[in-house]
Amino acid sequence: MASQYWFLIVFLLLLAVAFLAPLARRARRRPPERPTVTEARPTETAVVESPAVAESPAVVESPAVVDSPAVVAPSAVVEPEVERPEPTAGRLLRLRQRLSRSQGLVGRGLLALLARDRLDDDTWDEVEETLISADVGVEATRELVERLRAKARVLGTASATELRGLLADELVEALDPGLDRTLRASPHDGTPAVLLVVGVNGSGKTTTCGKIARVLVADGRSVVLGAADTFRAAAADQLATWAGRVGAEVVRGPERGDPAAVAFDAVRRGIDSGVDAVVIDTAGRLQNKVGLMDELGKVKRVVEKHGPVDETLLVLDATTGQNGLEQARVFTEVVDVTGVALTKLDGTAKGGIVIAVQRKLGIPVKLVGLGEGPDDLAPFEPKAFVDALLGDD
Ligand code: GDP
Repeated sequence: MASQYWFLIVFLLLLAVAFLAPLARRARRRPPERPTVTEARPTETAVVESPAVAESPAVVESPAVVDSPAVVAPSAVVEPEVERPEPTAGRLLRLRQRLSRSQGLVGRGLLALLARDRLDDDTWDEVEETLISADVGVEATRELVERLRAKARVLGTASATELRGLLADELVEALDPGLDRTLRASPHDGTPAVLLVVGVNGSGKTTTCGKIARVLVADGRSVVLGAADTFRAAAADQLATWAGRVGAEVVRGPERGDPAAVAFDAVRRGIDSGVDAVVIDTAGRLQNKVGLMDELGKVKRVVEKHGPVDETLLVLDATTGQNGLEQARVFTEVVDVTGVALTKLDGTAKGGIVIAVQRKLGIPVKLVGLGEGPDDLAPFEPKAFVDALLGDD
């Protein structure tokens, strides 16, 4: 009888095991309710976004910058297509139509004056007025017209074509064609060139940083961008988009973080990844000269712990005319500006501002912005510029 009970107990146990085993297996296979997400620890230092993730929500933090483990993108990251920017050679020539849109009248006006039968005092006064209204500046205009008059006198009755040639020569001369306009963006001693980009907000500074990255990539160089304008969140996003388009990296920090820390980390990232150049966008809050000096001065000092800054480019909005020159002067007093990028020359700006800028600041215009398109930034060439200004013969 007892053996019958034992048989029943064993049978029930086997039945229970057979019923529970599949349930246990299914429970083991079920995914957890939520994937574990590693939150990036907020940090005072910069965050490096890889080009692949610039457009995606994921952020890859550089191990060089933070101690916390990287937050890695979900597996399905869509790589943005890397663009091939237009070559820079001859860009100004290609973009001359943009310039002549607003400059045509000045050029045509000058040529019409010089085509008159008699070049009397009144005509020369009108030439002077036209140049002044084109933002060339009073002093530069007087000198230019004086030289032009003297040459025309020597030639006697010069033809309109000859006079056009003389005027073009004088304008090129006023643009100081001998100035070195090369962008110092080549690596040296195994470290990348460092370019600081400064200027007031709204001048087109961030856009120009993005365009410079394209200029460098077009010329076969590799770039890291530093978003040291931490006062405008949009500036860092804007820069990340520009960088992503050419497969470059952007180093950014927390909003309102220390711009100098971001600049420092950008250069360090540039050194670590062995790129040719690091382009740093800075904040352009013109609260007062002392504030600006503190801010930019610190950025420069901190960056210089890695080595010298090769180029400090001042971005200037050409449409602000002579007023912009005053703002520009403040920057030149605060940092050692080595070149000017003159933006928005495609709009209502007057071409003569290029002459005035160089003359007043004593700094070469190295780049000109001729539109909002990604490749609408051209290396400045005095002769091509004057030709565009005066239009075809
Ligand atoms: P930031 O505040 O100095 O960084 O200025 P942004 O880079 O944000 O540019 C301000 C505006 O100027 C944007 O709408 C740009 O597209 C525009 N901009 C920049 N450069 C040029 C240019 O050469 N031509 C034109 N037409 N607009 C430009």
